[in-house]
Amino acid sequence: MASPQGIGLVPTMGFFHAGHQSLIQRAVEDGPSVVSIFVNPLQFGEGEDFERYPRDADRDLRIAEEAGVDLVYMPPVADVFPADFATSVVVADLSALYCGHFRPGHFEGVTTVLARLFGLTRPQRAYFGQKDYQQSAIVRRLVTDLALGIDIQVLPTIREESGLALSSRNVYLTEAQRQAAPLFHQALIETERDMLAGERDGAKLLAKLERRLKKIPGFKPQYWALADPQNLQPKATATAGDVLLAAGHFGATRLIDNCVLGESKTAGQM
Ligand code: AMP
Repeated sequence: MASPQGIGLVPTMGFFHAGHQSLIQRAVEDGPSVVSIFVNPLQFGEGEDFERYPRDADRDLRIAEEAGVDLVYMPPVADVFPADFATSVVVADLSALYCGHFRPGHFEGVTTVLARLFGLTRPQRAYFGQKDYQQSAIVRRLVTDLALGIDIQVLPTIREESGLALSSRNVYLTEAQRQAAPLFHQALIETERDMLAGERDGAKLLAKLERRLKKIPGFKPQYWALADPQNLQPKATATAGDVLLAAGHFGATRLIDNCVLGESKTAGQM
């Protein structure tokens, strides 16, 4: 698929929702496009949901075709990771923080599969969602460190009207959990509002966020953090552009979300 513009790659695990579709749409607008659908075994830990991860190839193919994607790449595991595959790609430090702390090996699985997919498809551009904020920071570092020359585009999180970030894993939620799930995003934007109203003390902001997260019915917060937007290091004092990162469980379902301070559409309201 040689082209002067090069190709744009949208790496996914399939089971498309509007979040995937926004990345796909942008890739199609920008030039020749490839969407990969690969449920990557390397990025799931023991006891996680690799086996039951939702899949619907027919529907995904239909959506990709309607969006005008040039190629959908749906390789079997043996094509991506042949039996003699021996390489691991680790972005040190960034991969150990936050989600990486609770999901050891997860980001190593992500960066290893991306390095392989980048090699297989040779994109000039690649598209990621801000919903996986830490992942996008790690991908940027990977591409810079290895001088891969890929333009990494990170697009905004697509949400339900309730504020809940779209995720393939939302299908696991029970009705009661679905009702409560929008409070997760709400807790983040209320904390953003505290910051915009003048509270800059990171510890105080995080204490408020913790209280809000712990009040969500059926939700078990895992971490909540205020971080530098680039290197993701924890911050003691908040400034606009910093990011609140959080994760937690509704039962066995793990959700993550984030909020870049000053960026929420609703931040100025109320
Ligand atoms: P996944 O299929 O979950 O691996 O996601 C594939 C890509 O879609 C990743 O770059 C995600 O960050 C992105 N993505 C997932 N959910 C959303 C969302 N709600 N809004 C925007 N991008 C998303």
